[in-house]
Amino acid sequence: MTQCPICDEPVENNDVATQVFRRDGVVVTVTSIPAVSVCPHCGNAVLDWDVAQQVEDLVQPLFRWAESHTLPKPVVSITFPEPLAMAA
Ligand SMILES: [Zn+2]
Repeated sequence: MTQCPICDEPVENNDVATQVFRRDGVVVTVTSIPAVSVCPHCGNAVLDWDVAQQVEDLVQPLFRWAESHTLPKPVVSITFPEPLAMAA
């Protein structure tokens, strides 16, 4: 059983994570990210490097949009489809 590095609670493996990215007033919330593990206590998520990189690639264009446009900074919500429930 893996433990959370932040609060030492046991973590849930193969869970989905929510991450919030903020830059210059733009808020991008990404939910249902497939995660290696998520702490149910504090929400700390461990992502595969490849997954983290893909999420980064997803949100970066939104921050770049905000740098070059004059509309108010948007609040963006991105949701990945829930993975099919694992057979219990
Ligand atoms: Zn924790």
